[in-house]
Amino acid sequence: MTLPTFKYNPDPVSLNVIKKEPTTCPVCEKDREYVYHGPFYSVEGVKGICPWCIRDGSAAKKYDGTFQDDASCDDVEQEEYIDELIFRTPGYRGWQQEYW
Ligand SMILES: [Zn+2]
Repeated sequence: MTLPTFKYNPDPVSLNVIKKEPTTCPVCEKDREYVYHGPFYSVEGVKGICPWCIRDGSAAKKYDGTFQDDASCDDVEQEEYIDELIFRTPGYRGWQQEYW
């Protein structure tokens, strides 16, 4: 099964936000070979989301969460871009000054 592609994060595997590791995704409830390890900003602590549910927006929708801190998108004016970036793109640490 090939990973979905993300326009604004073309290589999430090499960034270690998506890992090849078995998971049972809490969103689609399917067994997947890849799991998301990046930041997810939501009220509930959610683990084990699969990349497919990120891509189609269902993870963000289900938990009312975002994959980027939307404060960091303040200077972006195109809503379409923001929408795809925060709801349908795997986040990674280091979009901005956040540095571990
Ligand atoms: Zn899923």
